[in-house]
Amino acid sequence: MRFKLIVSIIAVTALVILSCGDSPVSLAGDPEPSFLTIGLHSDSIVYSSWTQCSETDFDAYILWRSQSAGIQADPSQAIALKIFADDPLQLTWFDSTVVPGETYWYALETRNTSGLFAWSNELGITIPLNEPDNLTVFFIDPSHGSLSGDAMLIRTPNGFNYLIDGGDRRSDWSCGEDRILPMLDSLGITHLDGIVGTHPHSDHIGGLIAVLEEIPVDKVWDCGWTGDGSNTYESFLWEIQASGAEYIEGNRGMVLDWDPDLQVKILHPEPNPGTGNMNNASILIHITFEDVSFLFTGDLETDDGEEDVLAFYSPDDLKADVLKVGHHGSSDATSNYWLDAVQPSYAAIEVGSGNLYGHPHSELLYRLDSRGIPVYRTDQDGTFVITTDGTDITVF
Ligand SMILES: [Zn+2]
Repeated sequence: MRFKLIVSIIAVTALVILSCGDSPVSLAGDPEPSFLTIGLHSDSIVYSSWTQCSETDFDAYILWRSQSAGIQADPSQAIALKIFADDPLQLTWFDSTVVPGETYWYALETRNTSGLFAWSNELGITIPLNEPDNLTVFFIDPSHGSLSGDAMLIRTPNGFNYLIDGGDRRSDWSCGEDRILPMLDSLGITHLDGIVGTHPHSDHIGGLIAVLEEIPVDKVWDCGWTGDGSNTYESFLWEIQASGAEYIEGNRGMVLDWDPDLQVKILHPEPNPGTGNMNNASILIHITFEDVSFLFTGDLETDDGEEDVLAFYSPDDLKADVLKVGHHGSSDATSNYWLDAVQPSYAAIEVGSGNLYGHPHSELLYRLDSRGIPVYRTDQDGTFVITTDGTDITVF
């Protein structure tokens, strides 16, 4: 899959990604080396991710960058771009300090507590001139132990930034604190234009609480759940108020002014979504940028959820090139009727790698596979990015 992804980047954006030919090398006693992947974010930002070192004596990752190949042979000609000490789960970084037209080489050094080190493969990338302004969605990996969830960052063509859901939290960990805020920091985002909490389950709004605490947010769309909530939902509502963000109940038919180049619509739920299945109160958002559409479905299930939307809208209203699959790939969502209407070219699944529900379910994966729809999933791919210039779609 990694190879395919890199090829697609080259095809669509005419990037040059170069491999130095070095494979990760491990000697006795040395730490486990990572495998490094890089790609270009739409705003001339290099996105890097790497496989985890799972050894208990892990000490640090050091991401090196140079303008000539051969970092491992001569690190003195490179700069240590970032040092991630004591955090083996820090597996991504966004380098916003590159210059269009230049070529950069990257390699990751892993150190252990004995002072030994190992190098990843080395990759080079040429930053293109005049990269068009894209619509870019970061599908953030919500995995932590058994926690799962949805968390997506949307960067619009004119540079506005929105979150749809924010993953889970528990007493000692928050997806917002651990994943989202560092990502925003590395992208230079100090303020959010809006947040959507699709529905009040903790794996969607839990991580948003830390985000609301830490950075200014203009608007928050909530489904307006009127049934029994939870402490997490109460904390979320309280934090919205404390932050000064504008609270908006997101209902069917609303058109959102996220960016003048986008059409953004809420397709579900109807006002006062009731006290039944909270998943079916999920806010559905349909985004169109020129020829390309995305559909974000929260945890909407088939019975009384997708069925309700299909009864209200014509299939043309639901068509989307990229479908954020409902309910973490559960078999109770994303029916064949739903897929007939949406006709996605790509399926994105937000799901935790250690989730307790067996998500994504094999029945759902079969439905996607039998239609030849490529699937990207956070439990296997980690955080991934889908970006479009309004015509072509690139995944990395
Ligand atoms: Zn969920």
